[in-house]
Amino acid sequence: MSEAVLQLENVSRVYVQGQARLTVLENVNLTLRQGEIVALLGPSGSGKSTLLHIAGLLEPPSSGTVRIDGIDCSHARDSKRTAVRRDRIGFVYQFHHLLPEFSALENVMMPMLIAGIAKAEARTWARALLVQMGLEARLSHRPAKLSGGEQQRVAIARALANNPKVLLADEPTGNLDEQTAEMVFRHFLDITRERGTAALVATHNIDLARRMDRIIRVRDHQLVEE
Ligand code: ADP
Ligand code: MG
Repeated sequence: MSEAVLQLENVSRVYVQGQARLTVLENVNLTLRQGEIVALLGPSGSGKSTLLHIAGLLEPPSSGTVRIDGIDCSHARDSKRTAVRRDRIGFVYQFHHLLPEFSALENVMMPMLIAGIAKAEARTWARALLVQMGLEARLSHRPAKLSGGEQQRVAIARALANNPKVLLADEPTGNLDEQTAEMVFRHFLDITRERGTAALVATHNIDLARRMDRIIRVRDHQLVEE
């Protein structure tokens, strides 16, 4: 079996506000292996984003273990969590969060430059990713000059810039019309499959979910595999 790139073991998340305790996740377990593409379904407020934030080391679990690429990050210091996130995890959100002052190419280069990759190499690699996303004619466009579908394709290319082991996507096509969602999703599947990147994708779209390798539902604070 291929290696586990994301492991959640007995992960719970409880939000405490004053006297109130809100349990969102209760002792959930999840393993994502290299190249696996997994859909995360569940009604609004069920905890999909919370799960993705914990998996992406953006927030700590209340208890339990988070392992990325075999590295136990549960008790790691901020600097280590940041390094693991930068080198091994990619994020795509419902809204693209591209930097408005920079071109598509520069937006995709940015994570590589931050990681210390030489500019020429970053440019070559960013261009290759954008070409693969069907954006060869949009390299020098700023985000405002791109359509919603194009913006999301740039965001996906950017998430893959540092060649992550795990891509975490939070309703990546949730803001797009059906046809555009289909086109963006097809690019997403092609590029992650070709590169062997594992992905955990929160979505409300059952048709897209069925085209992934597995479907997991968040239900009553638990994960249920279909
Ligand atoms: P989903 O992404 O499935 O819509 P979320 O993970 O965003 O669900 O939210 C799950 C539950 O946790 C919701 O009830 C939400 O209000 C609550 N929640 C999320 N983040 C926080 C927070 N930082 N503080 C308190 N409650 C939160
Ligand atoms: Mg959410």
